[in-house]
Amino acid sequence: MSMNTQGRPTSAGEAAATAHKTFTGNKALDMEEPLIFEIGRTDICGVDLDEVEDFQPRLGKHERKSEIGLVGLSEPETMRHYVRLSRNNYAIDAGLYPLGSCTMKHNPRLNEKMARLPGFGDIHPLQPISTTAGAFELIDELARWLMETTGTSAVAMSPKAGAHGEQCGMMAIKKALEARGEPRSIVLVPESAHGTNPATAALLGYKVVAIPAREDGTVDVSAVQEKLDLYKGEVAALMLTNPNTCGLFEPQVVEIAKAIHDAGAYFYCDGANFNAIVGKARPGDLGIDAMHINLHKTFSTPHGGGGPGSGPVVLSDRLAPFAPLPFIRKNGSELEVIETRDQLVEGEDPFGRMTAFHGQMGMFVRALSYMLSHGSDGLKQASEDAVLNANYVRVGLQDLMTLPYGEKPCMHEVLFDDTFLDGTGVTTLDFAKAMIDEGYHPMTMYFPLVVHGAMLIEPTESESRASLDLFVATLRDLVMSAKSGETERFAGAPYHAPRRRLDETSAARKPILKWTPPAPAQVEPLVPAE
Ligand SMILES: *Cc1c(COP(=O)(O)O)cnc(C)c1O
Repeated sequence: MSMNTQGRPTSAGEAAATAHKTFTGNKALDMEEPLIFEIGRTDICGVDLDEVEDFQPRLGKHERKSEIGLVGLSEPETMRHYVRLSRNNYAIDAGLYPLGSCTMKHNPRLNEKMARLPGFGDIHPLQPISTTAGAFELIDELARWLMETTGTSAVAMSPKAGAHGEQCGMMAIKKALEARGEPRSIVLVPESAHGTNPATAALLGYKVVAIPAREDGTVDVSAVQEKLDLYKGEVAALMLTNPNTCGLFEPQVVEIAKAIHDAGAYFYCDGANFNAIVGKARPGDLGIDAMHINLHKTFSTPHGGGGPGSGPVVLSDRLAPFAPLPFIRKNGSELEVIETRDQLVEGEDPFGRMTAFHGQMGMFVRALSYMLSHGSDGLKQASEDAVLNANYVRVGLQDLMTLPYGEKPCMHEVLFDDTFLDGTGVTTLDFAKAMIDEGYHPMTMYFPLVVHGAMLIEPTESESRASLDLFVATLRDLVMSAKSGETERFAGAPYHAPRRRLDETSAARKPILKWTPPAPAQVEPLVPAE
């Protein structure tokens, strides 16, 4: 058997394996799973239900006339279908998930245990408030930790994701400007920003003006000042990510905050990268007015693939009065739930409401469980380890891959560009697809847009040194392969995934959104020839 430099068996026997086609299309544990509509039938029911006697429908003319069209599967058939599908899923529990800007970290199982405690897990938003004191206490305790770690004095808990939090923070800013009697029309956003930043500003009717990045990938206070002067009295806010999406801490963030405030505008900070600085720097001390915290990134919780999100927004004193309903007011040790405007007191002027209820309870439990089990020293260490791991990857690859901003320390993620692929005939996309064959989820590709062919790697603190070593060795092997002209390895990749390279253009331009039944599959038993 041949081995790679890591002592792992390589492709011996592979040719034989691919040549041998199976009857079912399955490849051992890799199952070819059809759609549920293809395996089930609509005319059968997976469970035995008694005929209901004397059934009197009470829906009147709303009663369904046609068949419902759902397939009937038994419990084991249903289980198998979803378990087989789930095996095609990449997850942080399956391997390193280096998706930059997403902080795909391990979610401690203790969090899950806490979130499933019946008192939290079974709680219903419409049950009487007299029965939910514990839940409100938990939300209040989590709020206290969020304010403590960010150095702020207010937090809106209800937003359900980072982007939703951006909307919340920017609506508070809009309301504050209106309250001052000077609505403004422009929001400044650096070129390296996540797409949700300009989208949020545009959604609220602002004109977005881009701030160019400096040679070193950070924002220059003079570039901000230039726009503030150009659009005097019109700039509502700056939306800045810190650490930024190039994995760098903005060195002039304090000066930038001052310039923004001197111009009567507000400083919105995108806090998606908070994992790099928890316990090290408090955004409130840096002068932010509003910042969302992606609980599902910084404070664990399984996310991606539609998992739950939660994006509480911490607010400065200047924005605190405009925090949305509902919220919890603390009177000494008493917690009062403020649901409606008639409960407001002097100084409270909410801009409105983001969600029907109080937010993502399951995530609140997970985040607080994560915080309490780490403690303040543990949270700080997690950030330090996240930064250390990213720099370990940087140093392991910087001689072979290209760092757009030079060989200097990064925060919790390291940004490469695709200059190292010049002349190889291998594209950034090919490189990502070849990583899939090696069993890795690719890093974030083509973002941020400020560098060509961006590859943004965020290993997080979850990875051991052994895991990082194997990842670095794998990428080194891929780079060497590209540089020595082995384009085959990339051009058709992924070779080993359940699906090969998809036609992404057709998928985007001509999506097939409606399933139509194929001719029923016939499995004919084979009979020996006479
Ligand atoms: C993830 C992310 C967002 C959006 O957060 P969601 O929770 O996905 O809505 C915004 N900005 C940056 C920099 C991010 O990484």
